[in-house]
Amino acid sequence: MTDISLIDRLLDVIEHDIVPKTADGVTHGNKLFGAAILRKDDRSLVLAETNNEMENPLWHGEVHCLKRFYEMPRAERVDTKDAIFIATHEPCSLCLSAITWTGFDNFYYLFSHEDSRDSFAIPHDLKILKEVFTLDPGGYNAENAYWK
Ligand SMILES: [Zn+2]
Repeated sequence: MTDISLIDRLLDVIEHDIVPKTADGVTHGNKLFGAAILRKDDRSLVLAETNNEMENPLWHGEVHCLKRFYEMPRAERVDTKDAIFIATHEPCSLCLSAITWTGFDNFYYLFSHEDSRDSFAIPHDLKILKEVFTLDPGGYNAENAYWK
């Protein structure tokens, strides 16, 4: 499934659909994480969203995207099994669980947990994985019965 046109499409969505929302969110004090949902069949955008932690600390880019997704009329939504989930950054433990509970069989991200720590000065993902789950970087099961 991972091919050049898919990678181009994912980068396109990050650049043109997520980043403008994130840039606006950051001006309101939110973090720079964003996410989007695409249809698998034609790779069209269902929804793009960004972090909204100023409203609620649980509204990470991914969880806020899922919140807005389930606020859409059912007819406009897609079955999550027929959808691609994109995150600008490797999902944290909260978001990994949210993606799992909502039934996606996949997700893609651009920046790793290490990037979040080293390039974005946001070490919480790795700290929580280590403190709560005793996992070292890369220690969670990235291919499992739910998703890869
Ligand atoms: Zn998160």
